[in-house]
Amino acid sequence: MDKLDQFKLWSQELTHLRGISSILAWDQEVIMPPLGAEFRAQQRATLAGISHSKLVDPALSELLDELENEDLQELEQVNLRELRRQHEKALRVPETLVRELAEVSAIAYEHWVRARRDSDFSVFEPWLSRIIELKREEARCIALGGSSYETLMDEFEPSAKESQLEAVFSKVRPRLIELLQRIDGSPVRPKSLEGVYPVKEQDAFGRKILTSMGFDWNAGRLDTSPHPFCVGLTPNDVRITTRHTENDFSRALFGMIHEGGHGLYEQGLDEANYGFPVCDSTSLGMHESQSRLWENQIGRSRSFWEHWYPQLRKAFPGQLDHLSLDDFVLAINQVSPSLIRVEADEVTYGLHIIMRYEIEKKLISDEINAPDLPDVWDSKMEEYLGIRPSNAADGVLQDTHWSQGLIGYFPTYLLGNLYGAQLLNTASKEIPDLDSQTRSGNMSGLKEWLRVNVHTVGRALSASDLISKITGEDLSANYFLDYLDEKYSELYRL
Ligand SMILES: [Zn+2]
Repeated sequence: MDKLDQFKLWSQELTHLRGISSILAWDQEVIMPPLGAEFRAQQRATLAGISHSKLVDPALSELLDELENEDLQELEQVNLRELRRQHEKALRVPETLVRELAEVSAIAYEHWVRARRDSDFSVFEPWLSRIIELKREEARCIALGGSSYETLMDEFEPSAKESQLEAVFSKVRPRLIELLQRIDGSPVRPKSLEGVYPVKEQDAFGRKILTSMGFDWNAGRLDTSPHPFCVGLTPNDVRITTRHTENDFSRALFGMIHEGGHGLYEQGLDEANYGFPVCDSTSLGMHESQSRLWENQIGRSRSFWEHWYPQLRKAFPGQLDHLSLDDFVLAINQVSPSLIRVEADEVTYGLHIIMRYEIEKKLISDEINAPDLPDVWDSKMEEYLGIRPSNAADGVLQDTHWSQGLIGYFPTYLLGNLYGAQLLNTASKEIPDLDSQTRSGNMSGLKEWLRVNVHTVGRALSASDLISKITGEDLSANYFLDYLDEKYSELYRL
């Protein structure tokens, strides 16, 4: 077998192991009985161990070195570069640290669950302190050249620069605060959507919309789980989930559109490259751009509901009679500062993210420590959103990320909004009748545009290179901020 074939086999086996681990995770969230958890954790740990040893194998180092001297095609070079990146990062972290992080995170997660249930930060604090120490150490081991925070962020947003993020976020923060204050002063009051929305009809309606977005049911499925998510096992097997609430159809529906956006990205990866690093999303931020663009910019637009609102009213007879189309569009875009990130609207969401980003950066650079968190948290909430949590469960304990060692992850949520708005701005220039397509319920033009420009590219370009290539300029906050300004000025008559 020649060197390139050996490389392909190596890469494919790593991909298969990851796919198997994902199906175990999906099964755990969707259908596994509760008592299955303990042994399932062991099964997944075994798989993770096998993947890790394949990735750090000295024979792989040798193979990668030898291939450096071969005459490779462009795509092969991308695959080589990506696998080398993963290989070298994995090599730099000592196995003892990997194991300790896994063990401490598992225990920390349990303590976080209890701490949140009892709204008692002290239960979680010692474990979070340990996690932060371990993450600081991990960043020192990997040391990619920039700050420790930038090194940790690389796991989720490869090649992202902290300086670029800082420049963009520092522009977003004051503009969002200012917009929020203007909305707060508006006399416009959205009406309530509360009613009775049978789950079966919610499911059927959501599926109709997913179909119109181009979600391929022969290569994907929709199930229910406590926490909605999307996992792509392969481009031909993409699973999304949702959860329903009887008195409010909107949570499940916008959740489905959101996960559907993620799902389209996974289904759109070039299956000819399956088994290679290039057949993967380029970053979590870019992934989130796909979900937020569909959920908010399309799914909460007036144009979209011109087509779908009559059908929604038919699906739930009598429930929405008191709302005109304009009332409805205002209701699904209601802005109001709230304590919980996952329930936040489009305007306040970015502020929830920016405060987490600022806090975790200080944690990693040693400027603050775990015991400082509740106070730091509450003050920032007050400063940015004008509200103060009355307990830790609705404040610093609300998100699971830190308990699992996910530090540097939060910024990807806001990057998603920014990438999404910048992409849609270019898409609407390149698809001149995009708005009338949306108004007639035809989403195929946008889906195709995203497929060609974003999905099939996979990891061949980093997210920042991809944005520049598609839109002709570097990441800019302007598109997102202008979009919000325009939309909410109209809705709230500012
Ligand atoms: Zn998402």
